[in-house]
Amino acid sequence: MAKKKVSDIELEGVKVKKQKAVKVAKPKKPKKPKKPTKTQLTKKLDVIFSQYIRRRKAVKGIAECVTCGRKDEWKKLQAGHFISRAKRSVRWDEDNVQVQCYSCNIHGQGQQYLYSLYLGAERSLELYEESLYTKDFSVEEMESMINYYQKLVESLDKLK
Ligand SMILES: [Zn+2]
Repeated sequence: MAKKKVSDIELEGVKVKKQKAVKVAKPKKPKKPKKPTKTQLTKKLDVIFSQYIRRRKAVKGIAECVTCGRKDEWKKLQAGHFISRAKRSVRWDEDNVQVQCYSCNIHGQGQQYLYSLYLGAERSLELYEESLYTKDFSVEEMESMINYYQKLVESLDKLK
């Protein structure tokens, strides 16, 4: 038997790999990242901001209505506005929004008088004055606020 050359042996061991079918990528149109609308961002910011407000002072998940003192799980309470959230300049102001129970916020229409006692005359007046100005938040501003409150809520999650 003729001695095989080293190079022959190596060749016998080589498996021929099936070539994978190469997908030819269709030329894609450059996708522009869709900018979320202000309406979408408003909803998103409202949700995360409301959660932050209800949880920021909660003790073991229990929060307290600022106008009647009722205590309940934060999920069962609301984030009530002192000055209507229709005024965007104060819609996401951390003083203008506090924990309220359903009864005070909805039936009591926010109990604005008691609310102002809670905030104090000075801060109530400031908020009132701020509410007289129209403020239009940019998409970027709203996105950064969403980010900010998401991080705060995440840090509250860690406290559990
Ligand atoms: Zn209440």
